Amino acid sequence: MKKRKVKGIARDTLHFILEASRSSQPNEFAGLLSVQEDIISDVLILPGTENSRMSALVRLYMLPNMSVAGSAHSHPSGDLRPSEPDIIFFSRTGDYHLIVGPPFDERSWVCYDGAGKRRDLAVLDVDFRDDGFDDAFDDELNDDSERGLGDGP
Ligand code: ZN
Repeated sequence: MKKRKVKGIARDTLHFILEASRSSQPNEFAGLLSVQEDIISDVLILPGTENSRMSALVRLYMLPNMSVAGSAHSHPSGDLRPSEPDIIFFSRTGDYHLIVGPPFDERSWVCYDGAGKRRDLAVLDVDFRDDGFDDAFDDELNDDSERGLGDGP
């Protein structure tokens, strides 16, 4: 997988992860983080628990256009250290891995790298317009390279 440098995580995305983790209690919440314009801005929810996560991942990588920077999951116990399965998972899933726990506020999370070492991750206030798909579509419509072919005198 390609390594990807990110500037930080969007505050809305962090709040989504914290909220989803809170409402998943007592179960664990897990998701993959994807990147838009170098900022972690989307969460793809992964079904299953720590031990079944790898098989869910294999299916997700069949999806086209996945740009995964890392993962996020909750430890309802409040112990934010990665478990051994976590570290194996981290090493295969990118460079930014959040573990969140109670009380699920802006301070109750830690970011790890692919080796399970703590790393800094900035929380950014960004406002993404939700029209990435439309932009791509417009680019295609504006491609007029075929115009005029075969129309010469
Ligand atoms: Zn874990």
